[in-house]
Amino acid sequence: MIIHRYDATRMSKQFGIDISSIDGMDFPAGWGRVRPGERSDSHQHDETEMFVIIAGEGVLIVDGHRYPVTAGCAAQFAPFESHVLENTGDKDILFFLQYRRDADSARRSASSQERQDPRRPQFVFSTPPTPNGDLHLGHLSGPYLGADVYVRYQRMIGNPAWHMTGSDDYQSYVVALAERENTTPAAAAQHFSREILQTLKMMDIEPDHYTVTNDAPGYAQGAQRFFSRTLGEDKVIFAESAALRDAQNGKYLYEVDVSGQCPGCGGATNGNICEECGEPNVVTDMAQPLSKRSQLPPEHTRVARYLLPLHRFEQQIAEHHKVGRVPARMRELAHRVFSRPEFTVPVSHPSEWGIAPAEAEGEGQVIWVWPEMSYGFLYDIEQLGKKINRPWSADEPGKDWKIVHFFGYDNSFYHSILYPALYHLAYPEWQPDIDYHYNEFYLLDGKKFSTSRRHAVWGKEILAPQSVDAVRFYLCLTRPEQERTNFRLAQWEEEVRDTLLGEWQDWLHDLGERVSTAYQGNAPDAGIWTKEHVAFWARLNGLLQAITDALNPDGFSLRSAARHLKTLVTETRAFSRSQQQLAGIAQWRDEYRTAVALELAAANLLSAVAQPLMPRFSARLAAALGNETAQSWPQQAQLVTPGNRITLQETPFFCDPQACDPQECVPQEPAGQEQPSDVHWQWLEEKLGVLLPETRLHPTHVLSQLGATSLMTVTLQYQLLHEYQVDVPLETLLNQPLGEIAGHIARQQQGATA
Ligand SMILES: [Zn+2]
Repeated sequence: MIIHRYDATRMSKQFGIDISSIDGMDFPAGWGRVRPGERSDSHQHDETEMFVIIAGEGVLIVDGHRYPVTAGCAAQFAPFESHVLENTGDKDILFFLQYRRDADSARRSASSQERQDPRRPQFVFSTPPTPNGDLHLGHLSGPYLGADVYVRYQRMIGNPAWHMTGSDDYQSYVVALAERENTTPAAAAQHFSREILQTLKMMDIEPDHYTVTNDAPGYAQGAQRFFSRTLGEDKVIFAESAALRDAQNGKYLYEVDVSGQCPGCGGATNGNICEECGEPNVVTDMAQPLSKRSQLPPEHTRVARYLLPLHRFEQQIAEHHKVGRVPARMRELAHRVFSRPEFTVPVSHPSEWGIAPAEAEGEGQVIWVWPEMSYGFLYDIEQLGKKINRPWSADEPGKDWKIVHFFGYDNSFYHSILYPALYHLAYPEWQPDIDYHYNEFYLLDGKKFSTSRRHAVWGKEILAPQSVDAVRFYLCLTRPEQERTNFRLAQWEEEVRDTLLGEWQDWLHDLGERVSTAYQGNAPDAGIWTKEHVAFWARLNGLLQAITDALNPDGFSLRSAARHLKTLVTETRAFSRSQQQLAGIAQWRDEYRTAVALELAAANLLSAVAQPLMPRFSARLAAALGNETAQSWPQQAQLVTPGNRITLQETPFFCDPQACDPQECVPQEPAGQEQPSDVHWQWLEEKLGVLLPETRLHPTHVLSQLGATSLMTVTLQYQLLHEYQVDVPLETLLNQPLGEIAGHIARQQQGATA
């Protein structure tokens, strides 16, 4: 027997609190103490752990959820659940802890959907693009496709998630462009902001909110308030420090105005951030600097600016990096940045283009556009809240917010180091829970895509209704997730021809023909199952699990998801070839129809799991199997309902990029789907999906019964007027079934065009 008594003098610091171990027990155990106002560092591990609270009161934060606890509470954490114990009382929390390693629990928890389900609002951001050019495939393949697929998948598994981005108007690149084009920064930004939004739409990416920073109501004032919160003693201060200016015209130099050698890697870089190694610079620390305009070495000068002593926040950033999904590459970058003995970052710059600080001393300066962006994300959340009637405020970030960022590696410093430091200064009480998903550079024929050098395949050059799914598929498949990857037009065309046409469409058409010939075009029911059938069925479910793992937050990888889609089709074709040997043999017809039913089940599964990646293809395939488009993520492979009308053989899914005539070949929604009321129903679903994200809509639903507020209904009424020029009375919108409203819109619109 073991009796162990708590001894306050034997405690030592671990995980940010006081811990002592209890030796000799069958499972490792110990005592823990959290002082008032303290909390343990967030962490997770493969062991199952138990806490028993002996004294005090506080909050357990498990995967971002807060649970109040007091003396007498016991809690168990599954493997990999992150946990924090925070003391909110005025006495010490004392607790007993014990943990146990169990491979089976760890295996189950590793791929558990429930553990990865944040069960709270998820704000998913793709880095707001700089409106100094349109979007090319390098942009699209990275943050934008990533965030779009992420949100589509999250919605299918029933989680509220929104994709937000905008136009990052106040970048110095916009000024540089305006100078070259002899226009104003505002005009240049407005032009490309529209182009960008249009390209996103052509890619089937429609953000739930899009902020144009130089034109958004209340944005500048909000950014000023945020900036003011970061100022103060031991925070951001206004002081003079070294800077560079052009030797010829005396102009202050930063970012795109100046180049030199990166203090981190020694490679060539522009001012302020190195695209190669991701490290920031402050331009005066670059070797051999050169002013871009005069091509002369700049002069050293001193300028008063707002300065952030970033090196003081190493501990806070390390703690932040223990909370969300933070790739090793971000932690390693932070290690490099903080290994500098001192690193003070100017967060304002002398410029005309941007938002001036509210403080008088900051006259003639603007808040640096990157810190401004850290506020922009909070602003977007507030604006989204207004649309869907949630009380979210940029001035008071919510403890339950889950923020998910998609960005290119060269923005890592801003997103994962600078922003959390600024949030810490502006809102010391807020512990932001942020997941980071970065991508590396996508190359074009071996060289970086470049907007300024026009080395690019532009979205608009390649995107059309008949190509968008093939583009999305190929970008997923080749996305530069862990390393740089290369795009070649010829390889894209080859992949469409060999895989999407040669394998996918070929198989689906062939399957349709066989169902038409052998079963009069109706899905056969499964009959007798052979061992091969059972093995194939198990394999389908295994692939579903693999694709689920590739789309869940922990292991999110579009490359992996796309590869598994390919495998699904390749293996189904092999299964099909082996089973077709029994076609037409009367004795084995019950076995053969099982094989065909299983092929249809594979097509059914493909339709559902392809939806986040290739939404149009998914919808066409569902319709050709006699199904509705999947609304939720499948839990298992499913047979197609026997008797469903199968029209695979007459459905065009993809077309050859070289041979395609868009007039002849537009595999849009199959005939019969384009009925006006369907279009309007989809429109309603889409708009209401934003307003009532947690509701699965049905044509019989009535808005007033769904808890829609009149503000929401007015929003919908305005959208109808704006997009369809159709005026529907509020009473009708609130009290008629949604299906009837869709019909009403269709009739009014026909009346208007007739
Ligand atoms: Zn570098």
